Amino acid sequence: MRRKIVIGNWKMNTTVKEAIFLVEQLKPNLKDIEDVDIVVCPPYISLASLYPLLTGSNIKLGAQNVYWEEEGAYTGEISPKMISDFCEYVILGHSERREHFGETDEIIAKKVKAALDHKIIPIICVGETRKQRNKGLVEATVEKQLEKDLSLATSHQSLTTFIVAYEPVWAIGTGEICKPKDTVEVISYIRGIISDKFTHVPANRVHGAEKDIADSTRILYGGSVDSDNVGNFVEEKEIDGFLVGGASLKPEEFVRIVKKVSEK
Ligand code: PEP
Repeated sequence: MRRKIVIGNWKMNTTVKEAIFLVEQLKPNLKDIEDVDIVVCPPYISLASLYPLLTGSNIKLGAQNVYWEEEGAYTGEISPKMISDFCEYVILGHSERREHFGETDEIIAKKVKAALDHKIIPIICVGETRKQRNKGLVEATVEKQLEKDLSLATSHQSLTTFIVAYEPVWAIGTGEICKPKDTVEVISYIRGIISDKFTHVPANRVHGAEKDIADSTRILYGGSVDSDNVGNFVEEKEIDGFLVGGASLKPEEFVRIVKKVSEK
């Protein structure tokens, strides 16, 4: 059984003060949730302040990005060694980074490896644009992305675990969702890709013994999820959770989403 997970991507929102205020609202309202992993990914600048507030709670921290080098002359970058003091997770390959910052799958592969080297769980985002969907290229797109993004992880010595978020680009921040049935199709396809890639690699997992990697990898949906539409997705057992953007900035919304996942 894969444990469900709900991850909030705050993107470039919240000052440190606002981030503290937000987790102070989330904490008491989510403290009784035991069957869902809960992660918030604030901007880097808030990680150090939120860490002591969340230590010992059921809400974990993630970063929204990371560089792949340990340290050095890389002005403006943050290394995996730096975030590993605070974060168990890191979002990689988000479509906004691909689009606005020119991140290629080669770059993402290096970041995935760097995160794994530091025992940080990468949340690898893949998904097609509207144009690619219209051309029937959904599967080809996610396959190409994932193949490359995982290319340095396949033979990773200390492979712990990773998460894949299927996030169709046209559904991010648009209010338009991918139909749950279509989502399940893509997620099943992604599980197949992982299976082909990792079969027979002995799994040294955080939470488990020797299970097939494909079987235990959590594959999430992301794209305009809110507390109203999440109910349609939770019926689908192939969907292991959600990467939530806009709605994760509204504490009552995020709490309702987590509770709906938990109730299921
Ligand atoms: C995201 O940023 O990963 C995301 C899914 O955003 P939204 O929920 O706002 O569509």
